Amino acid sequence: MTTTALPDVTVENPKEWDALAAEVAQSSGLLFAHSLADLTDFVARAVVAIYAADAAGEGGSELLRDVYSTELLARFRPGQFTMVPPTKVGLRLMAVVQDEQSFRLRVKVSMTNALVVAPVRMFWDVAAGIPTVVASAKCPQCGAPSPTEELVCSHCGASLAVAQIKPFLIERTEFFA
Ligand SMILES: [Zn+2]
Repeated sequence: MTTTALPDVTVENPKEWDALAAEVAQSSGLLFAHSLADLTDFVARAVVAIYAADAAGEGGSELLRDVYSTELLARFRPGQFTMVPPTKVGLRLMAVVQDEQSFRLRVKVSMTNALVVAPVRMFWDVAAGIPTVVASAKCPQCGAPSPTEELVCSHCGASLAVAQIKPFLIERTEFFA
């Protein structure tokens, strides 16, 4: 079994990150749960998974469970990528796309390898979680079970609030020249 090295991801416009994160925070009233480093880590893993899945054929969608949304997984078709897996990825932050409770980061991904002349370029819409507060099922201080949605332990008064953060997932992809 071989392990695939992660490609180097270079953000072309890192200064845009703060503006995009602020836009999410302003619209949602909650802090954006992810950092730019989280996004670049996700993109590196996603590129490896997408190329592996593409090469694996029909069963390849299994490799995309942590990368693609359920809707995008259902439309998975292998054989879209002709080149060898990329070693370098250029990432451009484009915009926040918003509808009701869901936020997506639109990014432009340019994937290259020393063996190819032209990069493969795609737009990705990446679902971006904002934290939601949920009640822990068990008190972290006294261990009492907490079957209700109460955010304070009825035995010892400790906080039961836990921030639940949704991971990144790609919801839409589009090739462009
Ligand atoms: Zn307690």
